[in-house]
Amino acid sequence: MKDRLNREINYMRLSVTDRCNLRCFYCRPVEDKEFIPPEEILSYDEFLKLIQVAIELGITRFRLTGGEPLLRPGIDEFIAQIKSLSGIDDLALTTNGLLLEENLDKLWQAGLRRINISLDTLDEKKYGAITGSYSLRQVLRAIKMAIEKGFHPVKINVVLLKGINENIDDFINLAYELPLHIRFIELMSFSSSNSYFLSAEKVLQMVKKKGQLKLIKLPGSGPARYYQLPGMKGSLGFITPYSDHFCATCNRLRVSARGELRTCLFSNETYDLKFFLRTKTSTHEIKNFLQTILSHKPMSWHQLHGKRKRENMRQIGG
Ligand code: SAM
Repeated sequence: MKDRLNREINYMRLSVTDRCNLRCFYCRPVEDKEFIPPEEILSYDEFLKLIQVAIELGITRFRLTGGEPLLRPGIDEFIAQIKSLSGIDDLALTTNGLLLEENLDKLWQAGLRRINISLDTLDEKKYGAITGSYSLRQVLRAIKMAIEKGFHPVKINVVLLKGINENIDDFINLAYELPLHIRFIELMSFSSSNSYFLSAEKVLQMVKKKGQLKLIKLPGSGPARYYQLPGMKGSLGFITPYSDHFCATCNRLRVSARGELRTCLFSNETYDLKFFLRTKTSTHEIKNFLQTILSHKPMSWHQLHGKRKRENMRQIGG
């Protein structure tokens, strides 16, 4: 499916819950207390209906996210149902890793092979300060187990936070030790944490001083650019929505747990899919609706006007 700018739209991120078991200060600050009432959250059957329509439109890559997707009961069965649909090239899950160890076997059996784990620091104290939880070891154990089990590629998402994780040496060492693809992501201004913004480009410049960087290609690499230092088992990726935006190649759509579709992460504009999924709307009509929406996908977030709604990633679907 192509949009009006000839961008191939083939990727959909689905948030299965807005609940989270961490309180990362930039994503779920203390004042963030509102949850979607359970009856408003899309059921797995409703998500499946949507995925089916999306496949018919040419979307072949899906990612499950949240909130924390592993908090939603039955996620493994949902994954197995998605995997049984034909026309899907890629299905991945993004998690904070807290519940990963106990779910790894079930996820593998369900057919999942790709996991991204969000982890902003390898320092126990800093982890506690960022997330409000002291479970770093648990997450590290789960990461190692995921690699041993055969998940591939295993990617780590690190949100860069000025004054907190500017020094990425321990992540570099981890990418030497394990075949992990560690992606450094610029903090996006959804909340009051803008003063922590740190440019990924700046961090990349620091990494360049450490040796000859080789640019590599990874499956499902999306907007990240990946590099390896000599002898590295994994790689270092950089995602730069601000210092070098990638709107011209943006291929994604996002659906929140409430069934709101967003064509741009930075836009306030949402489209209510729940209405269509809960009424007798035919798949043909839903398809037409999605196609019309696509014609409104912004060219670039730079061109969006108006103040952003105060929503965090756990609400939008990270
Ligand atoms: N709970 C899952 C997890 O931790 O991966 C999925 C949802 S979480 C919202 C997805 C990702 O969004 C995490 O890597 C998180 O750090 C990131 N995130 C949240 N707020 C962000 C922001 N303002 N800018 C950049 N990334 C953000």
